[in-house]
Amino acid sequence: MEDCIFCKIVSGEIPSQRLYEDDDTFVFLDINPLQEGHTLVIPKIHTRDLFDTDAEVYMKIMKAVQQVGPAIKTVTGAEGFNVIANVGSAAGQTVFHTHFHIVP
Ligand code: 5GP
Ligand code: ZN
Repeated sequence: MEDCIFCKIVSGEIPSQRLYEDDDTFVFLDINPLQEGHTLVIPKIHTRDLFDTDAEVYMKIMKAVQQVGPAIKTVTGAEGFNVIANVGSAAGQTVFHTHFHIVP
């Protein structure tokens, strides 16, 4: 989608620190981390939020969260991590391309 920061990150138009990528998902470090290792997991296809996302795509993002979360925990040495989705500007969503935060 034009003018979507995360679509531009997927296409490489905007650089990012990529941690993982497959056919459907893209995983990269947050530019303004709440903690070291703060990571974003996004679908490659543009959707506005989780509730604008096909169940099939949703499952693929969750699969990436399941794979990457424990790896981030190990690398950062954190004892745990939060998986967060802000849905809607009132809930703090600022980028309207579906994403999960993984925050160690
Ligand atoms: P939201 O508030 O929408 O849930 O989270 C959006 C997140 O995207 C924020 O934590 C913000 O720091 C991150 N972000 C915004 N622009 C960029 C960018 O250009 N690159 C990266 N890596 N992260 C970004
Ligand atoms: Zn997008």
